Amino acid sequence: MESRLGRLAIETLFPRFCVSCKREGSLLCEVCEQEWTPVSALASCAFCGELGSDRTCTSCCEDVYLDGLTAFAPYGNTVVRELLGHWKYHGDRSVERILEGCLKKASLRLSPPVLPFYATSVPLHEKRRRERGFDQADLVAQWAGELFGIPHETFVRRVRSTNPQARTSHELRRVGEMDDAFKMMDGIQIPDHLLLCDDVFTSGTTMDAAARVLKEAGAKTVWGFVIAKG
Ligand SMILES: [Zn+2]
Ligand SMILES: [Zn+2]
Repeated sequence: MESRLGRLAIETLFPRFCVSCKREGSLLCEVCEQEWTPVSALASCAFCGELGSDRTCTSCCEDVYLDGLTAFAPYGNTVVRELLGHWKYHGDRSVERILEGCLKKASLRLSPPVLPFYATSVPLHEKRRRERGFDQADLVAQWAGELFGIPHETFVRRVRSTNPQARTSHELRRVGEMDDAFKMMDGIQIPDHLLLCDDVFTSGTTMDAAARVLKEAGAKTVWGFVIAKG
């Protein structure tokens, strides 16, 4: 635990500013946190954008494994995008309390359509997790577990580290680069229904590669859950 003095020193050296109103103090000031409710992402197929339902549409279903996706906010929301940036790229863990609180407030509309689930995550590679000091997807899965009253468990591990900046999702899909990125954990019994969590969903290539491994291991439903959908 940071000491009060240590925290004061850090806050003096690196002051935080509210990502919404720019006031100095915290990444989302009390006033903005009270008032702020992001407009939810439109219900649509996560892969082709067809409007109407969060369920993967029938034509995409032929090519992908994920059954649908629930998102807290669209990635276009600047508050969400900045909070995620401070969290992942600047390692500011004060974001966690803010995001967890936001999810709690929105829990009713975020409730996934099929229960019971186990919450699980699209894990970071062990090497990346060590560099960052935490796995943001695993934390989202913990919060989802608490939010929906379901257990949280790890079922897959990432066996290959990919550099996300180096390639576009289109290239990844084309060369099938994510195909062997995940493996099932050894000796684990797979439940029927899973809520697969991550922080961000953009093209869906990574999440779908994890969903594929889970389905091939026997899962019947793999529903996605993310903070932001691109
Ligand atoms: Zn503010
Ligand atoms: Zn579709």
